[in-house]
Amino acid sequence: MKLNDMILQTPYLSLESDFYSFHDPQPLQDPCLISFNDAAAKLIGLDTDAGDDPSFVPLLNGTFLPKGSRPFSMCYAGHQFGHYNPWLGDGRACNLGSLNGWNLQLKGSGETLYSRMADGRAALRSSIREYLMSEAMHHLGIPTTRALGIIGSKTKILRDTMEEAAIVMRMATSWIRFGSFENFYYTKQYTKLEALAEYVIAESFPHLKDDEDRFFKIFCEILHRTATTTAKWQAVGFCHGVMNTDNMSIEGLTIDYGPFSMLDDFNFNYVCNHKDRVGRYSYDQQPNISYWNLTKLSKALSPIIPKERMQKKLDEYGASLYPNAYLKEMRKKLGLQEVLEEDFELIKELVGALQDAYVDHTQFYRILSHYNGNKADLYDIAMNPVAIDNWLKVYDKRLEKEKRSSAQRNKAMLKTNPKYILKNYMLQKAIELAQKGDFSMVQALLDIAKNPYNELPEFEHFAQETPQEYKNIGLSCSS
Ligand code: AMP
Ligand code: MG
Ligand code: MG
Repeated sequence: MKLNDMILQTPYLSLESDFYSFHDPQPLQDPCLISFNDAAAKLIGLDTDAGDDPSFVPLLNGTFLPKGSRPFSMCYAGHQFGHYNPWLGDGRACNLGSLNGWNLQLKGSGETLYSRMADGRAALRSSIREYLMSEAMHHLGIPTTRALGIIGSKTKILRDTMEEAAIVMRMATSWIRFGSFENFYYTKQYTKLEALAEYVIAESFPHLKDDEDRFFKIFCEILHRTATTTAKWQAVGFCHGVMNTDNMSIEGLTIDYGPFSMLDDFNFNYVCNHKDRVGRYSYDQQPNISYWNLTKLSKALSPIIPKERMQKKLDEYGASLYPNAYLKEMRKKLGLQEVLEEDFELIKELVGALQDAYVDHTQFYRILSHYNGNKADLYDIAMNPVAIDNWLKVYDKRLEKEKRSSAQRNKAMLKTNPKYILKNYMLQKAIELAQKGDFSMVQALLDIAKNPYNELPEFEHFAQETPQEYKNIGLSCSS
């Protein structure tokens, strides 16, 4: 399909007018294409050369509106760092409509009703980060929003310094957040709360459409999805950085990429957002924060679902749902096919060992994926190999209980434990080049993002431990 043939739907606009506000995107000056993502184009049925279409840059800049498009921003609230903020919403995102089940959105297209004191723009720096990382997450098998393309511009915006603005076209199967429900709960608009729940069923959980217990069942679905996504984050070493309830997706997608980071050396207490002084959103806290956020969602849903039923489900989240989701991911990482009680202890010991070993998280699992009893390669990458050695003795014993051959195990692990992830220093290099007008590294990192498990000889250096000076850097929320 050509851009001209796109016909967008806007089902969200069938909700009452206080769910959104209309406004047109405000174009950037001298827009230029930075990158087009053919994989995302395929999802919505666009030709894979749509990036070359003269209307592509105008599409991202909001000057070419596809047929059926009625640009709007969504209203939502949320708990930010533990405190309720009633007035959030798409402060810099403009929804164009949906195609093939994907809701298309421009991020950075100017002020909206929800911009508060801010400019509605997005810095080139943070836009490149979101564009690349959302694709990387998808190819790592983690539920996430996607991105069709990114444009840069000559428009200047003030952040810590003056920076250039960009726009990313994001796509999601749902943009509804926990905070979307909180908005109607705290304003006591329970009929609208219910209307939103029905909308969520139609958009995200259509199999529940005629179910009498559908509201409770969507709550259960959200719990399951949140548990799975959080477990996948922990397993791959992804730190979100701003797990506010307005950044929690009701489909369990990873949304709103800000000061996120992949772990460099494994560090349980790592905090990627340098404004997060108490470490509320540290790596090890993420599962607890998911739970906390779910309790806030249950509160928001309490006018339409009995509290006790939700509480029982929440108890289950802590007792079994999350731990089982995490165990499942970790067993896969360790190549364990048998499900044994002792695995919980093995994994707990591993986390302690990694903390003591000073070892690159990604490299450790990748090298472990080649493990056949020879420990030298694992010793080589750890500053403190003793910690690794102690754990490997337990792992060796556990492997004896596996029925698969070590060759089969290695093969499966190599498809589970990525060789390539997008570390902050890599993104930073791509950003610095892009700021000079060279977008080649953005494209290279997009290729890497799409091939996390393959051997890519020309990019071998990116599979090594993070250079010391770039390890575990904190990132600013300002974006
Ligand atoms: P975040 O924590 O990045 O998800 O953002 C929290 C809220 O601030 C959301 O409502 C955003 O839309 C809004 N926001 C962030 N940056 C800007 C900006 N530059 N202009 C307008 N709104 C913004
Ligand atoms: Mg957000
Ligand atoms: Mg090291």
